[in-house]
Amino acid sequence: GPPPNCPPDVEQLGRATWTFLHTTAAYYPEKPSPTQRANMLMLLRSLPLLYPCTNCANDFGEDIKVHPPDVSGRVGLSRWLCERHNEVNEKLGKEKFDCAIEKTDERWKDGPTDGSCD
Ligand code: FAD
Repeated sequence: GPPPNCPPDVEQLGRATWTFLHTTAAYYPEKPSPTQRANMLMLLRSLPLLYPCTNCANDFGEDIKVHPPDVSGRVGLSRWLCERHNEVNEKLGKEKFDCAIEKTDERWKDGPTDGSCD
């Protein structure tokens, strides 16, 4: 691929954005305050308006109209986001991810129990 100092293409931007979003969901509070919920809603609702890939942003906007964000707590949010990511995976012909909290936590928060990420 291109040298790492080049501007991100759609794939790199996508990986970086999913990393940010899934990690933020994994560390979102179990019981968020009304302000934390409102801020998370604003972050997610901003993506269709600001994400610099027009097709991505438009399709994500349509998807979250049908599936409104679950900002009730980290378990619900992690699952909701995993399901949204799976919608994109399906569209792109990529494998779906198991959205059980154990799997999203292993990938984005705790790492595997074999310690290979420690
Ligand atoms: P990515 O899909 O970037 O995933 C990164 C890692 O996340 C994977 O390696 C896996 O370990 C983990 N993962 C995979 N699925 C899940 C899941 N469901 N839940 C939790 N973790 C998971 N690209 C387009 O070409 N067209 C689009 O319309 C488009 N829309 C996008 C919309 C949004 C909101 C975002 C953030 C990205 C979008 N992308 C789009 C980019 C696309 O989703 C991928 O990021 C890109 O194709 C790179 O894919 P990848 O195979 O490296 O893995």
